[in-house]
Amino acid sequence: MFRHKKFIAKIAAATAIATFGFATYNSVSTQSVQEVQAATSAINTYITNNNIQPVGITNEEGTFTRMFGYRNGIGKPEGVVIHETATPGATARNEATYFNREWMNISTYVHAFVDDKETLNIHNTDYGVWGAGPTANARYIQIELCEVSTTDAFARSVANDAYYTASKLVQYGLPFTPGTTVMSHNDVSKNFGDTDHTDPVGYFSKWGYSMDQFYDLVGTYYNNLKGGTSTGNNGGGTTINGDNKGEGVVQVKNPNGSIVPISVFNDAGQPSNSNRALANNTPWYTDQSRVYNGHTYYRVSTKEWVIDTYATFTAQ
Ligand SMILES: [Zn+2]
Repeated sequence: MFRHKKFIAKIAAATAIATFGFATYNSVSTQSVQEVQAATSAINTYITNNNIQPVGITNEEGTFTRMFGYRNGIGKPEGVVIHETATPGATARNEATYFNREWMNISTYVHAFVDDKETLNIHNTDYGVWGAGPTANARYIQIELCEVSTTDAFARSVANDAYYTASKLVQYGLPFTPGTTVMSHNDVSKNFGDTDHTDPVGYFSKWGYSMDQFYDLVGTYYNNLKGGTSTGNNGGGTTINGDNKGEGVVQVKNPNGSIVPISVFNDAGQPSNSNRALANNTPWYTDQSRVYNGHTYYRVSTKEWVIDTYATFTAQ
């Protein structure tokens, strides 16, 4: 839960967007769960057996204006802290709305909220937030898991939580080291002592779930993302017409807005705007392209594409 002690964050100078390493990129590809240890977790088995696919990450920059870098610098997080909201029934959207409105009064903010249906990233993860005391805040990306009321919703929510975690490790070129590059708020309290919170351990246990089982799930997504193996059963069958540029990175930029629209294609091959978007001025992994009406579209997730108007492609 979140009602943390107040502390004063160091405010970094207003520096421009952080640079990314050449090999570092974002990815919104949905990945299938492979070879989850069946014996260790009924929830992880449920995710596998029901072919639950994590949702992509929705980037919507929120209202938090205290832009500060991590102790190693802007764009240099050291991992991800896993929280839980302790607010039954509140969705990711509910929580984002609340924290965007109240952070200055409650002195708390995190990067992302996740429930069974969406993953909302509300603060650029190149910068720190106020979620777990000064030591962890200077090191970690922080995500809050929302409470749900059914096993199916819980399984979907932890799949989304684990996928976000894995994708952030990959984005920042971090190893997956359970307890070090990924830890619970409970671990933060034990390791650094700045807070006494124990989430999400108690909530996990209500579902017969544990951090170790969560780590298994993060590891699966992490390996899939690192290996670049997209084995999702909805990944095949995409029609590619002409001039496929193949694998590479697209740098996306919308000079007229803060987000970059993405497109989906209907069965007739015509594009329309997706209800999701990419953060402005960010690099994304792409595995293929297609052409429509003189424009090249680069695939950034299983069914989502960004038009060349907003994208600069570099082959890999
Ligand atoms: Zn917490």
